[in-house]
Amino acid sequence: MKRILLATKNMNKLREFKQILFKYDYEVISLSDLNDNDEVEETGTTFRENALIKARYYYNKYQIDTVSDDSGISIDYLNGFPGIYSARFLKQYDYDKKNNILLDIMYDVDNRKAHYTCDIALIMDGKEHVFEGIMNGTIAYEAKGTNGFGYDPIFYMSEYHMNVAEMSQELKNEISHRAIALKEMVKYFEKNV
Ligand code: IMP
Repeated sequence: MKRILLATKNMNKLREFKQILFKYDYEVISLSDLNDNDEVEETGTTFRENALIKARYYYNKYQIDTVSDDSGISIDYLNGFPGIYSARFLKQYDYDKKNNILLDIMYDVDNRKAHYTCDIALIMDGKEHVFEGIMNGTIAYEAKGTNGFGYDPIFYMSEYHMNVAEMSQELKNEISHRAIALKEMVKYFEKNV
């Protein structure tokens, strides 16, 4: 069985990737398995660059095929902010507070369009690949729901008449930016591995 390093400590991401890559005869190992506590600075200006920076760092360090991802929410009215800063923006506050601040900023704004992006970088045999998924929606007028995480309580999807935090985990896993990027990666594995 070949090994692939998933450059994350997020257990949810790890489980999801493990299930998918097992089919292609890959054993997925994580940074926790390697007791690696390095902090890689995300100095890129795009999701793509940041995903690649992390993947390159660990690929160079361990010489194992590596997968890494970077994701976030972009709000049109804020010119794409917080975007790549989604995790770092107002870090001192919890997401209830962060989401309320965004709702306040947006309270009388008509253009409420927003999207989630996920870029997955894969370095395999030294070759770099990036797979991208985007999920479109709008910033809701009020926070609703307790599922999901992060900005999900204020991300409204008109097709489903609900905020993402009101969706079942199954539905979100079918349609999310991460799911779309993962499906793109699977297509690559289907063709090439
Ligand atoms: P990452 O783990 O560095 O990719 O951080 C991405 C950040 O973007 C998270 O900490 C959240 O703030 C936000 N984010 C990414 N995907 C989602 C999602 O599916 N729901 C809610 N927030 C998300």
